[in-house]
Amino acid sequence: MPEKVFYSPELTNRNYCHNCKICINVCPVKALKKTVLDIEVDRKICAEYVLSIDECIRCAAACPQGIIKLVPFVIADDGQIKRVESA
Ligand code: SF4
Ligand code: SF4
Repeated sequence: MPEKVFYSPELTNRNYCHNCKICINVCPVKALKKTVLDIEVDRKICAEYVLSIDECIRCAAACPQGIIKLVPFVIADDGQIKRVESA
């Protein structure tokens, strides 16, 4: 399997997160988890789902604060996932 690009969430500004957990609840594969200071993303679970349906924007679309941005990652054939850094 060649490298594949998928879009996955990142918080743009954690200070504006109200801990409502809506993003966590709308994720169909439970790839998001609340930690003490952050929303943690299981990239592998997110990648598997996103690549199986081409695109998923549920968490980003649902955030009432508008602080979830979908950014590109690549998953290699060995399962390693890396953020695509913008030029
Ligand atoms: S992009 Fe979809 S699969 Fe990935 S964390 Fe958000 S809701 Fe879940
Ligand atoms: S939906 Fe937005 S405001 Fe609510 S917990 Fe998730 S990131 Fe925070």
